[in-house]
Amino acid sequence: MCLFCDIIEGKIPSTKVYENDYVYCFDDIKPVAPVHTLVVPKKHFDDIRDMANSEEGSKYMGEVIKAIDEVAKIKGLETGFRVINNCGADGGQTVMHVHYHVIGGIKLTEKMI
Ligand code: 5GP
Ligand code: ZN
Repeated sequence: MCLFCDIIEGKIPSTKVYENDYVYCFDDIKPVAPVHTLVVPKKHFDDIRDMANSEEGSKYMGEVIKAIDEVAKIKGLETGFRVINNCGADGGQTVMHVHYHVIGGIKLTEKMI
């Protein structure tokens, strides 16, 4: 069982922002900024290491980048935003289906952590 696979399949409700054949993008349930949207490949990869070592990983990563741009446009983030990927336990990843946080709608500090 994977939480984000269930969200992608509509078994668990979510607030959709954008979707195509490769990605599903929805608002984070606990936003840390006015805009906090998750960009999630529809194919299950555990994390970016899993993506990097999969034949299809590069295709999905290209689609992730395009989807991030779409989400930023939909959310009106013309002046910038931040993209975060937490990888593995020490990287703070809590849902083991790779995803990219698109965070914005506020002036973010130059400090990353
Ligand atoms: P991670 O810590 O793995 O990088 O990020 C997981 C994110 O998923 C967290 O920001 C968390 O708030 C979000 N999240 C966890 N469960 C749900 C859920 O059921 N629905 C939505 N929309 N977001 C969730
Ligand atoms: Zn999954």
